Amino acid sequence: MAQSKSACQYIPSDIQKTDISLIHGRHVSSIFEGKKKVVAVDLVDFDIQQGQITAIIGESGSGKSTLLKLIYGLLEPQSGEIRYKGWLVPTRKDKLIPGHDAMKLVSQGFDDLNLYAKVWDNIASQLPNTNLDYKKTRTEEMLQRLKIDHLAQQRVADLSGGERQRVAIARALINDPEVLLMDEPFNQVDAAFRDDLQQDIRQIVNEIGLTVVLVSHDPAEVLAMADTLIVMKQGKIVDLGSPESLYFTPKNPYTALLLAKSNVLTKDQALSLSIPTSDSIAIHQEWIDVVADENADFWIKNIRFRGFYKEYVVGNETLSLHAIVNTATPLPKNCQVDLLIRQYIRFKQLE
Ligand code: ADP
Ligand code: MG
Repeated sequence: MAQSKSACQYIPSDIQKTDISLIHGRHVSSIFEGKKKVVAVDLVDFDIQQGQITAIIGESGSGKSTLLKLIYGLLEPQSGEIRYKGWLVPTRKDKLIPGHDAMKLVSQGFDDLNLYAKVWDNIASQLPNTNLDYKKTRTEEMLQRLKIDHLAQQRVADLSGGERQRVAIARALINDPEVLLMDEPFNQVDAAFRDDLQQDIRQIVNEIGLTVVLVSHDPAEVLAMADTLIVMKQGKIVDLGSPESLYFTPKNPYTALLLAKSNVLTKDQALSLSIPTSDSIAIHQEWIDVVADENADFWIKNIRFRGFYKEYVVGNETLSLHAIVNTATPLPKNCQVDLLIRQYIRFKQLE
């Protein structure tokens, strides 16, 4: 581990803060001044714990990549501070080569990879030639860890998106960073291979105590992987917690939509389902039972085949809800149905 590097102080006037989280951000803002001023990150506070996988999630343009760059030191915050191990994260003005020495960023796309070089060389080239035995064994170790030893002699250009991502991660990890930052790491990985890669990253985190911060616009894909989720909307952190707590008790409709594609209803819409409430609510798709009833006021408007389940669009003239239904109980389109709501979430206010 690059302990000595990360504990160092980059900014002469800085005083280390103690008893704070590994990565600690307070009142952090990032503003792009162009033709139009964009507040990409808007006065956020965050804490990232050592040895965990933290996922920053949110819709496109919500400030996720900007926050990741701030953590790494590629951008300087306009307000507030970000600390790593209690020390201020250095930015371009403090350090010639941008990026914190204890961290590695795997960027979107595969900008860092040499497409026409072999996998082996892409990874090995990160180590100096001062100890060739070490270079060889360490490269082999990384290939095995990322399960790409069989690809060592292939050109990166000939690999699939998932395999390239594994090469990029092996390359990033070979110098033992303490923190791995990844921007949309599963974007170009086929759904079928995504789970395996996520579980392999999980295992690496457990084995070597790595801290991972990743960005995703499709939170469903990281629910199973992250320990903590940071939810961003328009530059603000609007929710924060474990995947389970945010899935079952999100603080706002945005999180419910993002994590569960939940049905968000106004209080009047809720009343039409006989749910008395003075607030807006969210009903996850799997919390609705759809029961045939020819006297009921609702009907099946549409049916979407999703493989092992079907998604029904149900409702009346003014209301449409999405419900996940097991294919064992097929009902036809236009069938009149009653809706049994097994569970719902009540929000303090609609944002
Ligand atoms: P996300 O990663 O969540 O999609 P970003 O952090 O990339 O969002 O961007 C947040 C906002 O900041 C967006 O409105 C984006 O257009 C703007 N932005 C990002 N980078 C720049 C830049 N270099 N110059 C100007 N505006 C930028
Ligand atoms: Mg982004």
